[in-house]
Amino acid sequence: MNVVDPQRRIAEDGCMIESPYKQKILILDFGSQYTQLIARRIREAQVYCEIHPFSLDMEAIRTFSPKGIIQPQSEKMFRYSLDPNDPQANVLKEVERDYAPQAVVGIHPCDAKAMELVRINFDTQGYKDPFWLRRYEATTFVGLACKHPCPTCFCSTTGSGPFHEQGLHVLLVDLGDTFLIKALNEKGDAFIESCGISEQASASDIEKASSLKKQAEGEIKSMVPTDKLREKSLNALFDADFWDSVAFSCINCGTCTYLCPTCWCFDIQDETIDTDGLRIRNWDACMFSLFTLHGSGHNPREHKVQRVRQRFMHKLKYYVDKYDNGVACVGCGRCVQFCPVNIDIRKVFRLMNDFPQVG
Ligand code: SF4
Ligand code: SF4
Repeated sequence: MNVVDPQRRIAEDGCMIESPYKQKILILDFGSQYTQLIARRIREAQVYCEIHPFSLDMEAIRTFSPKGIIQPQSEKMFRYSLDPNDPQANVLKEVERDYAPQAVVGIHPCDAKAMELVRINFDTQGYKDPFWLRRYEATTFVGLACKHPCPTCFCSTTGSGPFHEQGLHVLLVDLGDTFLIKALNEKGDAFIESCGISEQASASDIEKASSLKKQAEGEIKSMVPTDKLREKSLNALFDADFWDSVAFSCINCGTCTYLCPTCWCFDIQDETIDTDGLRIRNWDACMFSLFTLHGSGHNPREHKVQRVRQRFMHKLKYYVDKYDNGVACVGCGRCVQFCPVNIDIRKVFRLMNDFPQVG
């Protein structure tokens, strides 16, 4: 009998590959004395990070996602005391955190766009998540244009792209021997000014960046259809006959949802040692069977097929219908690349978008 370890998968050459299931933040070391300081600050925020040399290859870089910087995988929200002698017993006190300005340099354009898609959930008219919002507002996103998108990327058909600017404050384009730096808004202007950069780009630099953009867009061969998702009947898609075959090989490992820059789900738990309590929120995902388990023991998504359907229906139908803001997918291709059983969201896009409308 074969046992599948969700933390590892087998590459085409037979080698075992570590799953990026455990989320972490990448810090590239260009030899600056600030590298350790950046790592320390990120770890102080209870976010796990790793320092790697700048020569790390792109394949390895892709296994890191920046979403934990804004929404840590595990976050202490409140402290409380259960000591009956403590006059402050049972009072929730917010855990102190540093919300000083920070910059994420080198973020993929698709990941920055994902932050905007996620914001729609944390920053509504009736409800604002202060933890997420304070960290997001304190961050300057300095994107690095993707000159060579990977074969599983399909960002240009999900409203994003290798040089996409939405969600960024600054865009960097690697011209080979120099970087073109483009400020995209006031925050970007302030960032460039604080770096002491004042040299103007030449016309040939701008032309070179423009041709690199065209070249990168031309390298994206993966496309997904999205034009008919909104007009499809939600009930018809929910009852579609393809879900069993889509879900058949899924092992509910959660890799796809933990890697996804647009997945935002979390669970809140209390942990107490003696009389000291902590309220913590941790990432959670609809692919896990406990996600919807009620205290009564009833689970409305008891079966694997229901959980797989939820993932795709949320991203490609519920979000689309509720917000009229496109799909909750930026086409980064990570879930395609790292699903241990090769479930491919691009195929599900086609199944859902082209599903014959009944009635
Ligand atoms: S679709 Fe793939 S990555 Fe996602 S839970 Fe199923 S097996 Fe894991
Ligand atoms: S419901 Fe599932 S697909 Fe949707 S955000 Fe949560 S984990 Fe991601």
